Amino acid sequence: MIKLTKDQEILKTKFYELKEQAGTHSPSIETLKTAIPEIEISIDACFLSNPYATDLFVDHLNRDVMIKGKFRAFLEFYPSQNNVIASRISSAINVRPQSIFVGNGAIEIIQAVIKNFVKKKMVIVLPTFSPFYEFAESNIELVFFYLDKENSFKINLRDLSKFIKNEKPDSLVLVNPNNPTGGYILKEDLISFIDLHKELENIIVDESFIHFAIEYSKISDFSIQNLVKNHDNLIVIKSMSKDFGIAGIRAGYAVMSPTKVELLTRYGFLWNSNGISEYFFSLYSKNYFRKEYEQIRRKYINETQSFFNSLITIPNIRVYPSVANFVLVELIDGTRSEDFVFKLLLDYGIYIRIVNDKKGLNGEFVRIASRSSKDNHEIVQSIKSIFKLS
Ligand SMILES: *Cc1c(COP(=O)(O)O)cnc(C)c1O
Repeated sequence: MIKLTKDQEILKTKFYELKEQAGTHSPSIETLKTAIPEIEISIDACFLSNPYATDLFVDHLNRDVMIKGKFRAFLEFYPSQNNVIASRISSAINVRPQSIFVGNGAIEIIQAVIKNFVKKKMVIVLPTFSPFYEFAESNIELVFFYLDKENSFKINLRDLSKFIKNEKPDSLVLVNPNNPTGGYILKEDLISFIDLHKELENIIVDESFIHFAIEYSKISDFSIQNLVKNHDNLIVIKSMSKDFGIAGIRAGYAVMSPTKVELLTRYGFLWNSNGISEYFFSLYSKNYFRKEYEQIRRKYINETQSFFNSLITIPNIRVYPSVANFVLVELIDGTRSEDFVFKLLLDYGIYIRIVNDKKGLNGEFVRIASRSSKDNHEIVQSIKSIFKLS
């Protein structure tokens, strides 16, 4: 069990005051550094991204944009309109452009979908990504379906179906793979579930982590975005922030019925993207780029899974099964999660996410993102030495 020194306790108080100000998200590294100079972050395992994908994108951006001097145009001119960028995405994902809505990050789409399509009552599976319940206004009744810690936060779709039959909501949200649990619904099971629930007006599936998913140790494309053409009630949301490591450019899209896209774009969202994001989506539509990306996606998934396997060997923590690029960890030796997070930060410069503020999580939980294999190794060694295991 970890205990902090008096001096560390004082810094910790300061740290959690900052955290408080950031609401349900983490304070940025810049904010932290300015407020508490004693903190030096060497590994940010809070943010959930594939670092190799960021490298890949930066390489292309340098060659195509920076060196050629095109950057000025991104600043000077308007980006293309929503439907034009949608057609670029269309060729990357093989979905017709009228069904694609482009967002300034997935977060803008979540906002738009909840505001425009959810009528009265929405079922949300907890714990999950908080904006889904934070963005719902008071005219929407939220009903929570709680995942069970004893069942490793695995979702039971039969129970969820019963719950829906009883509650009769108009909308349902599923995050697959789920954040912060890393839990996953197999593609086949999800399709059967969606087929069973034609009575729902909106089935909102957030696939922001789908590129990290594996089924029976197989890596493939498990997105259900192609289902939208036969299911008008399905809305599939996709952030590019995590799998491509480009949160700063705000790139996301959703696949939904053309009627819904038309409803959203008729009254706005005309130039809600930007030049760099548009450049990213053009690149994404190129075969050569997708091939390069596929290689580093596989490399990262394999490294991530072996990282989880190393964490599992540490006896002071329970590691919940994850097919995302992060893992939910519970401290089971009496250590407080705040002390654990702060100790890692102060002594090793490793920043991980405290998640005991999440609705539906009771206990001492943290979430650790997978980084490069070198960083992952350092995270494992540091945790072991904190617990005096090495
Ligand atoms: C991070 C995250 C988002 C937001 O993505 P942006 O594209 O950066 O706005 C949406 N959904 C889930 C589940 C996330 O974890």
